[in-house]
Amino acid sequence: MARKKLLAGNWKMHKTRAEASEFFQSFTKLVGNMADVTRSVDVAFGVPATLFDVSLKNAGSGVKILAQNVHFEKQGAFTGELSTVMLQDAALQGSIIGHSERRQYYGETDQAVGKKWNALSLAGLLPVVCVGETRTEREAGQTNAVVKKQFELALAEVSADAKSKDFVIAYEPVWAIGTGLTATPEQAEEVHLMIRSLLASHFGAARAETLRILYGGSMNSANCQDLLKKPNIDGGLIGGASLKPEDFSKMVLTAKG
Ligand code: PEP
Repeated sequence: MARKKLLAGNWKMHKTRAEASEFFQSFTKLVGNMADVTRSVDVAFGVPATLFDVSLKNAGSGVKILAQNVHFEKQGAFTGELSTVMLQDAALQGSIIGHSERRQYYGETDQAVGKKWNALSLAGLLPVVCVGETRTEREAGQTNAVVKKQFELALAEVSADAKSKDFVIAYEPVWAIGTGLTATPEQAEEVHLMIRSLLASHFGAARAETLRILYGGSMNSANCQDLLKKPNIDGGLIGGASLKPEDFSKMVLTAKG
């Protein structure tokens, strides 16, 4: 079964409501028949909480809106956090978790990522689980070991019930995020293949074939075609280029083929 490609924008801490409206106006016009496009490629945006409503209203038919982080508890004294109950209430479809910026600046651990994955899955929301090595780790030949450890420590926190639900892995080499440096299609495919076999070892070969592995790291309209051609690259998590309607619409149309 062919995996449906997923192009997910990560807007990070960008855009006011007016800017988001303007973006979606141009983006939907450039993409054309969004309902037709989203039948063959999944399109999503991870947006700041202030943009949930405006994004849900304007992103177009079939486009999924995601959070960029979530807490694993349903409610409580956790100032500044949002729960899965709140994401459901806001009509979101999932959340990015474990982004390297959250790991680096906010001390998010693999165990916390696993708890968030578990909470999202049990709430019927899609977890987009980010993993990836730093430049130092790559240069030390530790890429596969780092990615495997991040994935397995997170997975250890996921219950059997939650494991049975769909999830997405985003392989994001930290050295390629926001730097303009991109992993070559061959470098990315090599790690994606390793992740696919890791998935097979935990979930069985048949299920592993159905799970999507996205590439992230300076993906743009010029390099996405070669990356998306690789058999184990099932889409992208896209930062900078997802902020520009011209770029991101081209990428969506490229993924549609
Ligand atoms: C990201 O933030 O997930 C990302 C891949 O950013 P960029 O595309 O800007 O490198």
